[in-house]
Amino acid sequence: MVKVKDMFYACAGDANICSAGECGGAVTALLKYALESKMVDAVVAMTKGTDVYDGVPTVFTNPADLVKSAGSLHCAPTAIGKFVVQYMNGARDKKIALPVKPCDARSILVMAKRGKVNKDNLLLIGLNCGGTVRPMVGREMIEKYYGVNPDDVIKEEIAKGKFIIVTKSHEHKEVSIDELEEHGSGRRMNCQRCDVKIPTMADLACGNWGVIGPQAGKATFVEVCSEKGAKLLDAAVNAKAVTTQVADPKGIEARAKINDVMVKMGLKNQKKQFKEAADPSYWGAQFKKCIKCQGCTLNCPAIFDLKLKASAFEGRGDLPPSLNYHMARAAAIAGDCCNCGMCEDGCPVDIPLSRMYHEVAKRIGQEIK
Ligand code: FAD
Ligand code: SF4
Repeated sequence: MVKVKDMFYACAGDANICSAGECGGAVTALLKYALESKMVDAVVAMTKGTDVYDGVPTVFTNPADLVKSAGSLHCAPTAIGKFVVQYMNGARDKKIALPVKPCDARSILVMAKRGKVNKDNLLLIGLNCGGTVRPMVGREMIEKYYGVNPDDVIKEEIAKGKFIIVTKSHEHKEVSIDELEEHGSGRRMNCQRCDVKIPTMADLACGNWGVIGPQAGKATFVEVCSEKGAKLLDAAVNAKAVTTQVADPKGIEARAKINDVMVKMGLKNQKKQFKEAADPSYWGAQFKKCIKCQGCTLNCPAIFDLKLKASAFEGRGDLPPSLNYHMARAAAIAGDCCNCGMCEDGCPVDIPLSRMYHEVAKRIGQEIK
């Protein structure tokens, strides 16, 4: 019987899913089993879009199709939780399973707190996360630091502190993430500051950290975080949808150590980035760039539906808008920023907005974890 806090190495029972999966396909197999066994009515998972820099949240109702969603996309946008609210009625009338990185899971908690999603109808398969890369940054860095045409890349992965690419001619190239970030490239700035790497707020937390020995790279480490997660894993094992073995104690220790290092690195980067932005003239200069397109608001999982219509507080027809425009948005998010960085992805003039919202959430001390 699977219990909360149990830890396993898991693989898909189906050979096709196993080879299509990033690390043995357990996540895809669990999502498929949840759908097949009618634990859920639908699955929302990421599928590769036009290229490896594009991820498309996709609704699955046929279990056989789920293999198309296997694999990790490190350059995909991160708003899978918002998709459920915006396009699936906040799971009010359907049970839905979905894979979530820590910031996706936190955005769902924020939306549940704000009454936009019925969390009881969600089954969250958490993915550990070391970080993601903005699509355009990914393309530029591959051209500049790998000497490769970004359209020739057929696979990308992050392993052992390196961003690795595979080209059409099956050439493997890698550059250390530290080196990329020293040059102002690499992971999103919010990911560099992120201090929640293992999504224990989900029902299961899955990742490659801690899988050692012959299973390394071929299985996923699964931590059971809730009764719902325990029930799913137990039933999937009994149905042979996934195979499990108890996690190696040394692997458990290694996973905790890597997490500790990553969290400390995130905290160090928070200090650095927040310090850079501490001078009031920093924000004055950033906000002068604003063209008031509202891309940041529309992309935010917490306030995408905020109607920031022209009103007395912001002035009418002024560009850049008055500072009040930005302060109104900051007040609307208040302590609920989940540091997903979507506001920055939606900003065509590159204002580092999540740096401010994240700091506010940290200072208020109500950060959702
Ligand atoms: P699969 O069966 O291949 O299923 C993967 C699932 O992830 C699919 O459902 C797919 O739709 C979904 N998915 C793919 N890309 C995204 C995305 N960008 N956002 C949301 N869902 C997505 N594990 C670690 O231990 N350490 C890490 O540092 C780490 N970083 C990761 C970073 C990212 C961006 C992602 C997506 C995953 C990361 N993982 C990390 C988890 C790891 O890569 C595997 O996803 C995990 O071990 C499960 O493997 P699997 O074969 O069972 O998954
Ligand atoms: Fe991953 Fe970045 Fe989200 Fe943190 S903020 S969970 S590193 S995508």
